[in-house]
Amino acid sequence: MLDKLKKLNSQLKSKIYFNHDIGKMTWFRTGGKAELFISAENENELEIIINTIKDYNYLIIGMGSNILIRDKGYKGAIIKLGKGFNSLRVEEDKIISGASILDNNLSKFAKNNSIKNLEFFSGIPGTVGGAIKMNAGCFGCETKDVLREIFIIDKQGNKNKIKATNLELNYRTSNINDSDIITSAIFDISYGDPDTIINNINTIKKKREEHQPIQEKTSGSTFKNPKNYFAAELIEKAGCKGMEIGDAIVSDKHSNFIINKGNASAQDIELLGKKIIEKVFDKFNILLDWEIKLVGD
Ligand SMILES: Cc1cc2nc3c(=O)[nH]c(=O)nc-3n(C[C@H](O)[C@H](O)[C@H](O)COP(=O)(O)OP(=O)(O)OC[C@H]3O[C@@H](n4cnc5c(N)ncnc54)[C@H](O)[C@@H]3O)c2cc1C
Repeated sequence: MLDKLKKLNSQLKSKIYFNHDIGKMTWFRTGGKAELFISAENENELEIIINTIKDYNYLIIGMGSNILIRDKGYKGAIIKLGKGFNSLRVEEDKIISGASILDNNLSKFAKNNSIKNLEFFSGIPGTVGGAIKMNAGCFGCETKDVLREIFIIDKQGNKNKIKATNLELNYRTSNINDSDIITSAIFDISYGDPDTIINNINTIKKKREEHQPIQEKTSGSTFKNPKNYFAAELIEKAGCKGMEIGDAIVSDKHSNFIINKGNASAQDIELLGKKIIEKVFDKFNILLDWEIKLVGD
C-alpha cells in the first residue's frame, strides 16, 4: 500500500506525508506523529485515497479543536479535507456547505445573507464536519437544530446522502461512524432581522471572551455535562480548579477547560483529566464522561 500511496503522491493534487507530526495540528498542540497524514484536495481524489487505504486505520480531522492525540501518535492515516471541500452557497431554501468550512465562516456567511439561527456557530472553533459529528452547540442551540442532511464517503468508497433525522444527533454525539467522512452538508434557512443576528453574534463572542480561555491551547469542554449538572461546577466544587500535572492545568476561568500552558504532553492532559474524574466521583458519585476525543496509543 505504501508504494501505491507514494505513486499517488506524484499523481494527485492531494498531499500524502509519512510519519507526520499531527499533534501540532490540534488546538492542544501536543501529541505524537501519524504514520500517514493526508490532505485530500477534492472529492474525487478523496475517493481514490479511501479506495487505496480502506484496509488501513484512518481518522478524519477538522481543526483538531476537540481532539487529544496521544504521545505515541496514531498508527494509521489522519485525513484532513482541503480546498475542494471549502465551498459555501445559498440555493433556494438551503445553505450548501463544504465540510471543511470553518463554523465561524458559516455563521458570517449566514449573517451576510440575513439568515438567522446559525449565530451560535460563531463561537465554535471547528469545521462544519467536526460540528456535525459532535453535534456541536452553545447557548441553547446545536447543530441538529439547523442541519437538514449530509453527504459522506464511507470506508468502501461509497457516497451516501443521509438525512439529519437519521444521524441520532444528541448532546455532543451522533451515530456517524468514525470511518465515514462528511464531505458536505445542507442547512435549513430562516431569514431574520440583520441587526438581531449581529447582536446575537456579538453577545455570544462577548460571553465567550468573559467566561472561556479561548486564547489558550485547549480543546474546549473536557467533559460532557452530566444530566442535570454542570461539569464545571462539579469540578470546581471537587476542588480541582487550578490543579496541574506537568504543564497541563485546570483553567482558572472555566473549570471544565484543561489548558496546555506550555509544553504539556498528551499524557499530562489525560492524567489530569483522569484525576478530575476520580475527584468528582469521590465527592459526588457522578462519573464524568470525556467530551474530548482521545486518539491513538
Ligand atoms: C476554545 C474552544 C471552545 C469550544 N467551544 C465549544 C462549544 O461551545 N460547543 C461545542 O460543541 N464545542 C466546543 N468546542 C469543541 C470543538 O470546537 C467542537 O467539538 C468542534 O465541532 C470540533 O470541530 P473540529 O473541526 O475541530 O473537529 P476535530 O476536533 O478535528 O474532530 C472532532 C471529531 O469530529 C470528527 N470529524 C471532523 N471532521 C469530520 C468530517 N469531515 N467527517 C466526519 N467526521 C469528522 C473527528 O474524526 C472527531 O471524531 C470548543 C473547543 C475549543 C478549543
